[in-house]
Amino acid sequence: MPKRKTEKKRLNVLQKKPEKLIDKDDMRLDGRKLNELRPVKIEVGVLGNADGSAYIEQGKNKILAAVYGPKEVHPRHLAQPDRAVLRCRYHMAPFSVDERKSPAPSRREVELSKVIREALEPSIFVEYYPRTSIDIFIEVLQADGGTRCAGITTASLALADAGIPMRDLVAACAAGKVDGHLVLDLMDVEDKAGEADVPLALMPNLNAVTLLQMDGSLTIEEFEKAVNLALDGCKQLYALQKEALKSKYVAVKEAVDE
Ligand code: UDP
Repeated sequence: MPKRKTEKKRLNVLQKKPEKLIDKDDMRLDGRKLNELRPVKIEVGVLGNADGSAYIEQGKNKILAAVYGPKEVHPRHLAQPDRAVLRCRYHMAPFSVDERKSPAPSRREVELSKVIREALEPSIFVEYYPRTSIDIFIEVLQADGGTRCAGITTASLALADAGIPMRDLVAACAAGKVDGHLVLDLMDVEDKAGEADVPLALMPNLNAVTLLQMDGSLTIEEFEKAVNLALDGCKQLYALQKEALKSKYVAVKEAVDE
């Protein structure tokens, strides 16, 4: 059986956990329905110095992504003769969670950096840029559950903003089981006190899944339902991603026309 969150963090949450996470009318603690995403605000091109950037607020999550590249690889021996090397760093700011987090990379951040890189790589034409690197930095400024997914959604936009040729955007969202109900887009307390969490990333236009993980336990039927719920969440996020990309260029056009 998959291992649940680190026991200490889970116990802390369970001590503070309200008796019910979902009320008798199927409403969640933050007033959402079971299949509802948190409010999402996305902005593209928020940093002047990076080649591409994006920022997301998804519920209480606040996440910034920046991209540099394609550029010369340092150290040089890491260069690949036939493709760009994609590198990714997911990092949580010390002030992003209620207990100060060490700024040094934790095991969890190293793992998330790897799975996020693997979720984004299929969307990029890395073969167009041999001997170069594309570097992605994801900074979680405030965390409230589902940061790997929100990080992927944001980093994909930062890649597009950097003008890197892509097969599709990648949108990511988790579904899971809380108090016996299947729910979309778990917030922190639902993630930790709930029964299961299934993060999923999708290239919606190509209908290809690039990340699928599961923490907790579900029956096969519940797993299928959770996957479908997460796919639906990704499609909703995809529409918001496209809107955010377009609004950047509308703003640029308006500035040029003035
Ligand atoms: N979290 C925390 N302290 C940590 C790491 C995580 O409080 O050192 C919280 C944070 O809100 C995060 C949530 O736990 O979003 C769930 O973490 P998980 O490892 O499941 O990743 P995520 O759901 O953010 O992708």
